[in-house]
Amino acid sequence: MIIVMKAGATKRERDEVIKKIKEFGYKPHIIHGTTRDVIGAVGDERGKVILQSIEFMQGVESVVPILKPYKLASREVKKETSIIKISDDVAIGDKDIIVIAGPCAVESEEQIIEVAIAVKKAGAKVLRGGAFKPRTSPYAFQGMKEDGLRLLANAREVTGLPIVTEVVNPETAELVAEYADILQIGTRNAQNFELLKKLGQMKKPVLLKRGMSMTIQELLMSAEYIMSEGNQSVILCERGIRTFETATRNTLDLSAIPVLKQKTHLPVVVDPSHATGNYQYVAPMAFAAIAAGADGLIIEVHPDPEHAFSDGPQSLTPKKFTSMMEKLKLFAEAADRSL
Ligand code: PEP
Ligand code: MN
Repeated sequence: MIIVMKAGATKRERDEVIKKIKEFGYKPHIIHGTTRDVIGAVGDERGKVILQSIEFMQGVESVVPILKPYKLASREVKKETSIIKISDDVAIGDKDIIVIAGPCAVESEEQIIEVAIAVKKAGAKVLRGGAFKPRTSPYAFQGMKEDGLRLLANAREVTGLPIVTEVVNPETAELVAEYADILQIGTRNAQNFELLKKLGQMKKPVLLKRGMSMTIQELLMSAEYIMSEGNQSVILCERGIRTFETATRNTLDLSAIPVLKQKTHLPVVVDPSHATGNYQYVAPMAFAAIAAGADGLIIEVHPDPEHAFSDGPQSLTPKKFTSMMEKLKLFAEAADRSL
């Protein structure tokens, strides 16, 4: 249920409502709107009619059921797009298109520092780099783990760029959170509900990638797992899905962008690198994503893609990334956004 507070409702009235929601055995989630607050009451669907009586409390405008299976992620609960603050000068979901860039995996100090400086110069606002790598083969490079996290923190120190890196299991989540500014959930873990719940109990923003065989509704249900535990800072990522097509690594579902924009207030970023698997297709798909309404991009950049430990074929060189960023400005402007 959504409890819509009156525009001039006081904090006391709101606190009383929160108390009542808890008394009924539901979990309150306050969502601050521009003109009024709404409180989502989530919990067991079966007994929710009991919440209807809150309508008669002071300061309450109305109590309405949330029709969608995802509640806190739904636009029904919050009309305006959520702006997820990453650092003092970076937020995702606002007018600025945020470009996240960096290598698939952190490989060495020289590599990550070189890429970080180059992508920053080209206009990226966040540095990416995997330290814990979920690989299809157990024999493939698994990441530098905590050493990789330390190198990412060094790169942040040098460039000022906040960092996003993947969390592969609940056991190492706290460790990753000590270093990262954004916690990434990869496609292979997008329905690892214990991991989703764990990140929901933490305070850091989460970049949630769409599972490669997940429907849009399932993606939103995964976001709901994080949000229902208390963490509202979720950024969704379309990174391509499995189809019958083999010419590209995955199929970038561009239509997911306007669909998500209609269904949820959460910001949406697009990963054209994993979607296509080929550096030659990255820039066109990045432009298309912005045209379709994405709030940001996440792009793999490597100083020497041929010798990359992972995902070399889809990685842009710093030079190619820089020229893509120049053209991207025009697409951002056409979409009434800034870069
Ligand atoms: C990654 O970002 O390097 C990654 C492993 O992505 P995905 O989970 O989308 O495959
Ligand atoms: Mn990768």
